Amino acid sequence: MYCYFRSGGGLLVYSDSNPPKRTLTADGQETKKKKVVVLGSGWGGYSFLSYLNNPNYDVQVVSPRNFFLFTPLLPSVTNGTVEARSIVEPIRGLMRKKGFEYTEAECVKIDASNKKILCRSKDASKDAKEFNMDYDILVVAVGAKPNTFNTPGVEENAHFLKEAEDALKIRQSVINSFERASLPDLTEEERKKILHFVVVGGGPTGVEFSAELHDFLVEDVAKIYPKVQEFTRITLLEAGDHILNMFDKRITAFAEEKFQRDGIDLKTKNMVVGVTADEISTKEIATGKIVSEPYGMVVWSTGIGIRPVIKEFMHQIGQGQRRVLATDEWLRVEGCDSVYALGDTATINQRRVMEDIAAIFSKADKGETGTLNKKEFKSVVKDICQRYPQVELYLKKKKLRNIANLLKSANGDDTEVNIETFKQALSEVDTQMKNLPATAQVASQQGKYLAKCFNKMEKCEKKPEGPLRFRGEGRHRFQPFRYRHFGSFAPLGGEQTAAELPGDWVSIGHSSQWLWYSVYASKLVSWRTRSLVVSDWVRRFIFGRDSSSI
Ligand code: FAD
Repeated sequence: MYCYFRSGGGLLVYSDSNPPKRTLTADGQETKKKKVVVLGSGWGGYSFLSYLNNPNYDVQVVSPRNFFLFTPLLPSVTNGTVEARSIVEPIRGLMRKKGFEYTEAECVKIDASNKKILCRSKDASKDAKEFNMDYDILVVAVGAKPNTFNTPGVEENAHFLKEAEDALKIRQSVINSFERASLPDLTEEERKKILHFVVVGGGPTGVEFSAELHDFLVEDVAKIYPKVQEFTRITLLEAGDHILNMFDKRITAFAEEKFQRDGIDLKTKNMVVGVTADEISTKEIATGKIVSEPYGMVVWSTGIGIRPVIKEFMHQIGQGQRRVLATDEWLRVEGCDSVYALGDTATINQRRVMEDIAAIFSKADKGETGTLNKKEFKSVVKDICQRYPQVELYLKKKKLRNIANLLKSANGDDTEVNIETFKQALSEVDTQMKNLPATAQVASQQGKYLAKCFNKMEKCEKKPEGPLRFRGEGRHRFQPFRYRHFGSFAPLGGEQTAAELPGDWVSIGHSSQWLWYSVYASKLVSWRTRSLVVSDWVRRFIFGRDSSSI
């Protein structure tokens, strides 16, 4: 098949080299297999592909990365606690096992109206090949890119910590800084500048990286570079009031105190306004005062933004005003057919959730008084929590676990509830729930959910009446996606970790570090990576970290 795409100024003609594959139906008829194109081999894409088990699909994966990267251990690569190769799983193995096809390329345009994508081979030279691919179903799991908030100089002068290559560059740069600072004839000021490491962003990644770097300096560098060790400084900059502000307050407080004890210079309420080759400038939020400081190395970790290919796609489908690609609760991209999106690249549009909640209330309300008694109210809240675990999570977080508390929060007393007041109270949930967290947990659960839907697709198409549906108009074939939160970890260095587990259980210290080791070892996607990571940990305990800059 020949297709046309406009690229740069000219009209290019490409051939689709993949003829449609065929499958036999139950009555022996030959039909064309549906072509499912999956963009991305990260948490969302890899999980979808691992669970997809339906021979009726011709699956084609497009990703510039021919491996899956276990990102939670990426900060450990920056100082050699684990090796980069230990946390990547080649994608080709899974492709062979499942009979899927893989193309190492990046999708540069999605043409939803013609069900085509334009791809470019990874090769950055002028020989990069462009080709197109058609699809019946598109699964978008391209993740996100680091967000610089357009801060001048960040792209050019800072390191990011998103990909395996980033972690390796940081590792080399840290070691090179020590070698440079050890050169003869440098002034004290010059050594201090070279060994000033600045981390921007007090979220889990920035905090974990700072902790890893501090461990490296204390446990290894002090022995290897004793002459320059006194000149080292780590500064952690955060624009908000506290670091780790998505965690329980006890964790935040512990982390801040620990960093202070460790000598990490923690500066909250400070926003970075520019980075030059030699200096980083920050604005004190309270006073507006701008201060510039010399630095040796900056690591930027302030959150994520949308990839250009998704931005362009959003404009095309009428989502240009949104910050993130919106899907419904079944992960279907709103405003276009046969396109699903998951992971960091998308968010479930919670407006519908609030509409559903409103509908449940009006169904329960008999209309005259606008109030529900305790029993009715209890059943309504139970109903909502069953459908939307995010609401349940939110209520738990607010310690509104029992119905009397809920009634009090809505009403001020615990007799009967005024529906309007409670809806208002819940509208706060709307803001809280707008985005599921951009985590591997969410992406991999979404991938598994979607694969299971695809596995049951034919069965459900034949029996469209089941299983359950929640919307007003017509039946939907599947339960909506439900996120289950299994807890979060924040490694704080010195073999101490903070853990926030379901049921408001918080644990901080050495015991949580062992929990962290076991959970992460078990979550690695293969026995090969598991054994490599465990042997890296053992090697580090026995011999310390490798400080060579290769
Ligand atoms: P990704 O995993 O980023 O995968 C995106 C895939 O798309 C990649 O294969 C990429 O190569 C590919 N791609 C990119 N552009 C294109 C394109 N144009 N066309 C085709 N393919 C493309 N989460 C946790 O839950 N726990 C943690 O401890 C944790 N620690 C983290 C530590 C670090 C340092 C980082 C950076 C993230 C961490 N996260 C953690 C977050 C987690 O990694 C992300 O939420 C998760 O990777 C999102 O999965 P995804 O599939 O959406 O994107």
